[in-house]
Amino acid sequence: MARLVMKFGGTSVANIERIRNVAAHVRREVQAGHQVAVVVSAMSGKTNELVGWVNDCSKLYDAREYDAVVASGEQVTSGLLALVLQEMGIPARSWQGWQIPIRTSDAHGSARIEGIDPAALNEGFARGEVAVVAGFQGVHEPSGRVTTLGRGGSDTSAVAVAAAIGAERCDIYTDVDGVYTTDPRVVPKARKLDKVSFEEMLEMASLGSKVLQVRSVEIAMVHKVRTFVRSSFDDPANPTPGTLICEEEEIVEQQVVTGIAFSKDEAQITLRRIADKPGVAASIFGPLADSNINVDMIIQVVSGDARTTDLTFTVQAADYERAMDHLRKRQAEIGYEALQGATDVVKISAIGVGMRSHAGVAARAFKALAEKGVNIRAITTSEIKFSVLIDKDYTELAVRTLHSLYGLDKAA
Ligand code: ASP
Ligand code: MG
Repeated sequence: MARLVMKFGGTSVANIERIRNVAAHVRREVQAGHQVAVVVSAMSGKTNELVGWVNDCSKLYDAREYDAVVASGEQVTSGLLALVLQEMGIPARSWQGWQIPIRTSDAHGSARIEGIDPAALNEGFARGEVAVVAGFQGVHEPSGRVTTLGRGGSDTSAVAVAAAIGAERCDIYTDVDGVYTTDPRVVPKARKLDKVSFEEMLEMASLGSKVLQVRSVEIAMVHKVRTFVRSSFDDPANPTPGTLICEEEEIVEQQVVTGIAFSKDEAQITLRRIADKPGVAASIFGPLADSNINVDMIIQVVSGDARTTDLTFTVQAADYERAMDHLRKRQAEIGYEALQGATDVVKISAIGVGMRSHAGVAARAFKALAEKGVNIRAITTSEIKFSVLIDKDYTELAVRTLHSLYGLDKAA
């Protein structure tokens, strides 16, 4: 008897009718003889509403109370789905994070899962029950307080539960029918991928694809959880398989580039004419890191006089004001001449494990973008991806250009 985890996102449980549809998917797997743990998100829009209420009450809120509030959305949907399943004659029981328990760190609002004890879920399976687990939440045991895993965290709950109970696979049901070569709203010729490797999915999620929370892919990769992204809007009696996220070796037809991701959540900062001497980079990036500002792309230019240099780097848009403020205040200490910033930028990335064994993949992109008149502000590369920072206005043009360049367009 195989074990499965089925995860349903907010749009899939948006109202009672949809919850009934979810239950029909669950019934199909139960009738096929599986032991099923279902992980649910809050109803769509609910978490945003709860976060809004928290902000209304307190600007600099206590993160423990934020978690007490926002964890409630999943409590509701887990209970409702258990009720609907029971009405269908399927034994089911809801589980809050603390009841299992799903143990986490105490980083309230973005806690990390430290361990899941499968004993209670196993006992439920032995009684023939479907376990309906509230996603997104856990417990910090020393304090006994509820925690949440960061926005989109119920993906992570699902994969972690799958690893803990030794599930054969984890099915993530969502409002799209799989993982695409890029966002189909930007490139209508985007293709659905049948399979994508853990590593590529991790890069795609980190570089802007919003299908899965990054942390969920990390856990799937470490524990080798075969994870499917599939649609909850399929006919429950006749579902399509979606996209399988799996080990690279399972993918026979490997492309050089598998997908194009983009993120508009970027900002560029440039320091002009800083001293060209040891310790300057440390004096800039050390304090930024200390205030939890993540720096991504970094370019340092060697200037003609060998005494000064220019330094450009990117941060997340949300950190931009804070980073600029930091740097302004420390102008004398760092010793730069001018500080410049831009938020009208986008980072576009091409991802593919095939880049390991093919030379000149990025060079082709630079040429193609140049031919379209797209100016590149910054470039970074790593083993299986490269990214370019360009003006936001050129997002669509650049994504489409790269998508065609690497043969990702679907046949007309
Ligand atoms: N409801 C939570 C959120 O919106 C968790 C999730 O849906 O994954 O972020
Ligand atoms: Mg999600």
